[in-house]
Amino acid sequence: MVPPDMQIAVLLSRTTWEIWDTMTTSESKSTIFVRLIILSLPLTAFSSLSRAQPYSEKQLHVFNVLTKGVHSLGSENWRFTAIAPLTADIIPLFWGNHKAYTGDSRWPQKSYPPVAIASEYQKGRFVALGHDGLLVDPSANKDFIGNILNWLGNGYQHRNVTIYAHISNWFSKDRLCAKAKEVLASRGVEIIELRAQVTDEDLKECDLFIIVRPSQTIDQNEIRSIASYVEQGGSLLMTGIGWYWEDQHRSHDIRVFPLNRLGEHLGFEYSRTSIDKTPRDNKTETRRYSPIRFQPLYARKPVQLEKYSLKEHSNHSITQSITQNKNKYKCHYVVEGENVIVSMPYRFFAKCKKPVDFIRQLDAVYDLYVDLTDGIKPFCGSKIVILNIDNMNYHMSSGNPILSRQDRIEYILGELDRSDYKNPSWGLMHELGHDFIIGMEHYFIFGHGDNESWAEFFALYGCHVLGLEHKEPTWKEIAKRYHESGKHDFERIKNEKWLMIGLLHHISDQYGWDVYRKLFKRYAELVRENDYLEFNETERKVRLFVKELSLAAGVNFYPYFDRWGFPVSQSTNNELKHLPKAALF
Ligand SMILES: [Zn+2]
Repeated sequence: MVPPDMQIAVLLSRTTWEIWDTMTTSESKSTIFVRLIILSLPLTAFSSLSRAQPYSEKQLHVFNVLTKGVHSLGSENWRFTAIAPLTADIIPLFWGNHKAYTGDSRWPQKSYPPVAIASEYQKGRFVALGHDGLLVDPSANKDFIGNILNWLGNGYQHRNVTIYAHISNWFSKDRLCAKAKEVLASRGVEIIELRAQVTDEDLKECDLFIIVRPSQTIDQNEIRSIASYVEQGGSLLMTGIGWYWEDQHRSHDIRVFPLNRLGEHLGFEYSRTSIDKTPRDNKTETRRYSPIRFQPLYARKPVQLEKYSLKEHSNHSITQSITQNKNKYKCHYVVEGENVIVSMPYRFFAKCKKPVDFIRQLDAVYDLYVDLTDGIKPFCGSKIVILNIDNMNYHMSSGNPILSRQDRIEYILGELDRSDYKNPSWGLMHELGHDFIIGMEHYFIFGHGDNESWAEFFALYGCHVLGLEHKEPTWKEIAKRYHESGKHDFERIKNEKWLMIGLLHHISDQYGWDVYRKLFKRYAELVRENDYLEFNETERKVRLFVKELSLAAGVNFYPYFDRWGFPVSQSTNNELKHLPKAALF
């Protein structure tokens, strides 16, 4: 049986998310609508520092100073961005716990993604934070911001703090949280908002330079001035939310995020994804994010990540390399294909004899789905990460990453083995199907069971084209019996996946897959025109579906859908009257 998974697919693309709950002033309590896009970073520089490393006495001292008295950071609702340390100088201050992961393949479970880092960089210092709330929100931990400002300010001998308002159209000194204002006021500091491009001159007598949620790009001169200011003894405080930048700047890669441009010099990289959390209305799901609590530095022992790419590796070279790895049992392995990235522990790769064949087949399934949906790729075309996690109520869950519970490892391997690595498993094909439904803005989804049926539909299509044995339990039979019963039970169709897929399958048997290809081409046009229907606009969706399906097939399906109890209208029938009546069963 296909693993029952959650409706996160639906929720992910149509849920409104609050960036945080308690923003200041006019934005307080306002909900900022963002479509959650969980994207994966291209697998460039994997941090060699993902493993545990010894820290110097000096680093431990900095860690102790900055975390003194701090047990947690702020509201548990914050969606933090992970910040990857890329050099040995970087000190993680706080990080997600062993359950935390992100859609960035750099951060599987047990990678302990840092959300706050600090470093002494040449003669200067900096702190980078993975959430703006830490500096502005009343619920942010006061000791933490106090520690940071005291450490960075270095005595505030010039009594000058400069906020770089030039690249942040949202942040101003008024937005600083009360604790930050209090610390700076107690040092007699003047806070300057710099609204022009920063120059060396601006930084000459600056005790602390602050960048909060940059919204503009940064150019080479600005980077040079800021980096050389820190090198010569200046202090820099940065906060940013990578996933928010990504959402606001679709045309820019996360590498263009100003803090990442600075990070290239200073040695860190903000992720484009968040340490995720469960949607509020899906409380039965495993908590998908980690509360951020204090842990001593020695307790952070991240799993070692090893990465392979289909471009550079063969089945043999991957399996050989994994077998010969002395630390193999402690490692987490990432293999990157053209469209899909598989992120699994040793336990999976110990038994996966042909990892390249496996991922190539997943890539092929992805390509088939892209072909079916007229080129619409989910998550803006980002590679889909398939991530093993140890805790989840469901076997698998769609989105990016697609989550696969650890007991699914044997199931996937079983399907691979039985098919000589031709069948990448029905479950993963099904979850990829959900992702493409998200890409198609749920245009043809009428309810939960229906969502499931369409994921099955994609998997069925993939199996059909790839010549794989597919699971087709009794759905065609169920659909036939339903038709013959003469029932009008749209609620059942919306909630029972086997019925709808049965009806869809009868249609493809009779009229061919091309009907659906043409239908999706029409939906793709609407998606490209940004003509979205709301998820719950069921009647409009049904009318559109019956009309477009009929036009695609060149036959009128109205009488069938009417008979089955779909909320179709006579006007749809009138639009289709010129077509011959469809003939099913
Ligand atoms: Zn599903």
